[in-house]
Amino acid sequence: MEQDNKNLPLIPLRGITIFPYMVMHFDVGREKSILALEEAMLNEQEIFLVSQKDAKIEEPKVEEIYSIGTICTIKQILKLPGNTVRVLVEGISRARIIKYIQDEPFYRGEVEPLVEVEYSSDKKCEALMRKAKDIFDEYINMSGNMTSELLISMDDLESPGRLADIISSYLMLKGDKKQELLEAYDAEERLEKLIYILNNELDILKIERKIGVKVKKNIDKVQREYYLREQLKAIQEELGEDDEDKKEINKYKNKINKAKLPKSVKEKALYELDRLKNSGSYSAEGGVIRTYLDWMLELPWNAETDDNLDVKRAREVLEKEHYGLEDVKDRIIEYLAVRKMSNSLKGPILCLVGPPGVGKTSIARSIANALNRNFVRMSLGGVRDEAEIRGHRKTYVGAIPGRVIYGMKQAKTRNPLFLLDEIDKMSNDFRGDPADALLEVLDAEQNSTFRDHYLELDFDLSKVLFITTANSLDTIPRPLLDRMEVIEVSGYTYEEKFHIAKNHLIPKQLKEHNIEEQSITFADSAIYNVIENYTRESGVRSLERKLAAVIRKTIAEMVEKDKKSINITTNHIKKYLGPVIYTYDKTDKEDKLGVVMGMAWTGYGGDTLPVEVTVMPGNGKLELTGQLGDVMKESARAGFSYVRANASKYGISPDFYKDKDIHIHAPEGAVPKDGPSAGVTMITAMISVLSNKKVRHNVAMTGEITLTGRVLPIGGLKEKSLAAFRAGIDTVIIPKDNEKDMLKIPKSIKSKLKFILADKIDDVLTNALISEE
Ligand code: ADP
Repeated sequence: MEQDNKNLPLIPLRGITIFPYMVMHFDVGREKSILALEEAMLNEQEIFLVSQKDAKIEEPKVEEIYSIGTICTIKQILKLPGNTVRVLVEGISRARIIKYIQDEPFYRGEVEPLVEVEYSSDKKCEALMRKAKDIFDEYINMSGNMTSELLISMDDLESPGRLADIISSYLMLKGDKKQELLEAYDAEERLEKLIYILNNELDILKIERKIGVKVKKNIDKVQREYYLREQLKAIQEELGEDDEDKKEINKYKNKINKAKLPKSVKEKALYELDRLKNSGSYSAEGGVIRTYLDWMLELPWNAETDDNLDVKRAREVLEKEHYGLEDVKDRIIEYLAVRKMSNSLKGPILCLVGPPGVGKTSIARSIANALNRNFVRMSLGGVRDEAEIRGHRKTYVGAIPGRVIYGMKQAKTRNPLFLLDEIDKMSNDFRGDPADALLEVLDAEQNSTFRDHYLELDFDLSKVLFITTANSLDTIPRPLLDRMEVIEVSGYTYEEKFHIAKNHLIPKQLKEHNIEEQSITFADSAIYNVIENYTRESGVRSLERKLAAVIRKTIAEMVEKDKKSINITTNHIKKYLGPVIYTYDKTDKEDKLGVVMGMAWTGYGGDTLPVEVTVMPGNGKLELTGQLGDVMKESARAGFSYVRANASKYGISPDFYKDKDIHIHAPEGAVPKDGPSAGVTMITAMISVLSNKKVRHNVAMTGEITLTGRVLPIGGLKEKSLAAFRAGIDTVIIPKDNEKDMLKIPKSIKSKLKFILADKIDDVLTNALISEE
């Protein structure tokens, strides 16, 4: 159908293309265009809209405007502020400009409408239409910014040209592509072009999406945590936990302000608090900071107790809480008196040395009581890493301060009595020597600025009264020992143990079990029975345990049999504690060949040390078995040489070794003993068998020996005598040079034991061996 050419006002469009059947609005600002609009409104409201080739040109010339455009009707005009007009148009038909009639004040031209050629039921056309619809369907799904309702309305479309135009109008295409579609006059050609462009667009969309997913993934990873955190925050806020955080921070702040911390400590605390604020309450770091702050706040930076340097009162406290230990008490009182005069507790560190269970810890506790100081105890047994004393750096996972700072926290004051237990049991390895760290702790010159690795702050230890304990002095590192004033606390005699049990241990245990003193009483013989037959120690620790066991069993019996009180006798003891545990070597009431009772001394106190020797046919071998340490083996060899060298003197054939082997055995002994003091014992035993002279069963001996037969002095005389007495011995042979140590032996022991002083081995032999008559 032919249509006449039209004479219409014209507006060049910038960046948009309008297709037939398309309804669209756009804003018009150029004056020339507004005039064209007004002109159109005055007539049939028809206008020719055609794109300019370059959207950027403000006033396009004729040749800068495409020739094919769309004839539209103007539906609506809206004046906007600032001289712009919004116009709603509907596309009617394609048209080509034949000629420009005027270009001022607006463009006007003669346009020729291009009428669609109608295709009817052409199969190719049908196929193209379907294809176009399918692809467009996919395009809509991919781009996601159009609804599929569009497609439904398209289903009814029969005309391929119309379908192409409608789809074109919805596509987001560059201006020149749209123009291409507009210029495709033939409907079939237009559809083909459209399908091509759609396919292209679809590809691009797919790639875009792929990139999008990738980028998103990356962003996701980075932001996931952030989002989760934010979410958590939101949840916490909802739950009111954010408030909790704030409350916590405030709580710390108050504590810090109240704690009267030294300036540097306070600064550090506030700094850490600031970090806590920023770290988030659930982060691992938050936890570390919190622990650190707690430590800081719980340490006694300033708290102190007032010292009581009343020496008289101190003596009373010591007397009340401990039986015996007279010289220990005297030494402690002296120490305190000197400190009182100089008005400071600085000075050498006290070191209480003695076997376990003799009251070292408890006397230290009494000193604390007497001085009115808090008491803390720290065991150094097994410490071999410097960090145990001085702490680990905070960067360590699970780091905590060292034991010194730990102790100070427990002490709650900065001037406690700090007991360093078992200072002789410390060892060292590649991680640094704990003794060095300890030296710093104990050194009055340095310890006012003791620095713990964890705390990273100076802590003042100068007001602490350190006391140490040890079982023996041998293994205390020399530099430490030099700084200490040693007080020996030795083992107890039966009598002393009896008094300690009766006046201290039993009342203490009854109190702990909440029993009135009248309800359970002990017959003296019962106490002695426990001491003699159920314990074997220098101290009273296992005695205390045994008494506690007896008390528990008595309570059970009282409850069961509904008794108000019980007086414990030896029969009860037997019933409660079972058969006698220790008989010592008391059963040996016979004089024997080659069996000699020696005496030994270890960190655990004194003990008896029987030595047996037998002789058998052989070729001069010396066999050593049993609980013999290296030093004891040396003594045995030295003894053997002495015997060989002096054989004839003792009526032994000088050639005895040619056809005899000698076997020395040290039976039993839970505690391994070692030391040179068994020399006399071995020689006596060897000479006994070789000369066929029996050894008195009631004699015990101790002494080191030289190859010339001299008896050298030994250590631990008191402990050894106690052990000999416990074992039922009545005569002890000791080196003459130990005579001076006899002063330390309790009278009760001295009155029951006969001491023989030996200068030479012959002195020993005459007193120990029974000559055959
Ligand atoms: P140590 O520290 O020497 O190993 P403890 O101080 O632990 O020994 O003593 C063990 C127990 O024996 C404690 O209950 C203590 O009170 C008690 N004890 C030790 N010696 C005496 C004593 N002389 N007087 C009173 N009780 C004592």
